[in-house]
Amino acid sequence: MQNNTTIDHGTADFLAESRKRRTFAVISHPDAGKSTLTEAMALHARIVDEAGVTHGKASRHATLSDWNDVERERGISISSSALRIEYRDTVINLLDTPGHSDFSEDTYRVLMAVDFTVMLIDAAKGMEPQTRKLFDACRRLSLPVITVINKCDRPGKEPLELFDEIQEATGRTPVAVNWPVGGYGAFHGLVTPGSDAYIHHRPVRAGAQLAHEEVAAGATDSRLDPGGWPEASENALLARELNGSFDDDDFIACRQTPVFFAAASGNLGVRALLDFITTSAPSPAPRRDLSGAPRPIDDEFSGFVFKVQSGTDAAHRDQVALVRINSGTFERGMTLRHAQSGRALNAKYAHHLVGRGRATATRSYPGDIVGFVNATGLRIGDTLYAGKRVEFPPMPRFNPERFRVIRLTDASHQKRFAKGIAQLEADGTVQVFRTQDGSPRGPVLGAVGDLQFEVARERLLREFGVETAYDDLLPFSLSRPLRGPGAEGITEVFGTDLLYRPDGEPVGLFRDRWKLERALERMPGIFAS
Ligand code: GDP
Repeated sequence: MQNNTTIDHGTADFLAESRKRRTFAVISHPDAGKSTLTEAMALHARIVDEAGVTHGKASRHATLSDWNDVERERGISISSSALRIEYRDTVINLLDTPGHSDFSEDTYRVLMAVDFTVMLIDAAKGMEPQTRKLFDACRRLSLPVITVINKCDRPGKEPLELFDEIQEATGRTPVAVNWPVGGYGAFHGLVTPGSDAYIHHRPVRAGAQLAHEEVAAGATDSRLDPGGWPEASENALLARELNGSFDDDDFIACRQTPVFFAAASGNLGVRALLDFITTSAPSPAPRRDLSGAPRPIDDEFSGFVFKVQSGTDAAHRDQVALVRINSGTFERGMTLRHAQSGRALNAKYAHHLVGRGRATATRSYPGDIVGFVNATGLRIGDTLYAGKRVEFPPMPRFNPERFRVIRLTDASHQKRFAKGIAQLEADGTVQVFRTQDGSPRGPVLGAVGDLQFEVARERLLREFGVETAYDDLLPFSLSRPLRGPGAEGITEVFGTDLLYRPDGEPVGLFRDRWKLERALERMPGIFAS
């Protein structure tokens, strides 16, 4: 293995490679078509496998089965975390976000690792509750958002009505990059506002292959219904008059969201989206460290753990820490440091996640995701670096809203139980607390959604071989970090309780909002900012 701490990037090559990266996630309400769109994007692109071989693909099925082969060989579920594809000259790192709102904390952490998002909307349903919630996370992270209105092959809401909904929900101005021709249910293709030509689409059966696309003269194309063309071009122009045209700066500054129309199941509109991502979506930019200083992307290697995935291979108890590269190049075997412990880290078992493209045969660049297999001691939010020390801000923790004591049902497995709980804490599956008297019955687990409890119990069984049971939910629905001394006084307010994190930080529990407000009024000094 090469021991590489010398940095020779900073070259035109390095900058060209990082500019080629597009790292993003698709956010959507369940059923809007996220998996379908992901498959369609993979179909348009080349999958890069672990051996560094890229494949051109002729069918959706082939793309996905190849993908699954990679997954099987690796013995871990890559597709559930990151998909790496090449489209034209661009390397696309598409990160998956959990679909269920109970895992919103997980989703937030993934969104911290991307440079922009694609917000996918079902044309018939508009801005659904989970879409709004996920958008709010994007807003907090100041992420540029591309909007895709999907299922345009079926009856749906009027585009301009959807634009109003998007504007109201996001506070960003939706600008049409293209516009559907033929109306919903008779979706013939896409026009660019102000253009006389349009892309005529002919979908293929069940979306197994690329849709046939052809540039046609709108006004004279006999395949359009009478009146179809004037209506589409007028509406497209109207949308442009109302909301303006796409502007790079407004998109990056989160004032605009460019809008695309698509029917992902027929692969319609997917190429236009990918083209836009290639030309106009942001590549990795410098990220701020703990002191607030931006780490230039051509500085020495640095990255942070945004996800720890374990239990994907029960036989090997594989655990993979997914690291997003913020600066520099990464090579397997290079010497790294773990900022939180100061320890040197053996990167021997690091994987360039889902292989290395032809142009990047041995290296990964800013925006890429690297998986560290079985690297102990890596926790969510941790920083890895080479050379000059850097530490990125910790991942924000959500304030849990549900609490349960978890009990071991077979006392002889105490050690494994403790190990399992520590693991769940480290990888962010649940938050772990002890009570003031040391939790003799078992630790208290804190979660945002109930499914997290289920996942925790399942993993303790599968990965650590311990049977556990939960006590009833504790009667608290809100929590806030506190700071001592005097934090203990919180329990004097009726309807509150106190727990401690493993690092000793006190956390106040409140029965409801009213109790929280009472406590805030009475002891404002003990609430951490
Ligand atoms: P997810 O839950 O967001 O991942 O949604 P899926 O990709 O599983 O899609 C949900 C359902 O919508 C599936 O039955 C898809 O076949 C269907 N679907 C996805 N995209 C389209 C589309 O463009 N048009 C139509 N008619 N159906 C679609």
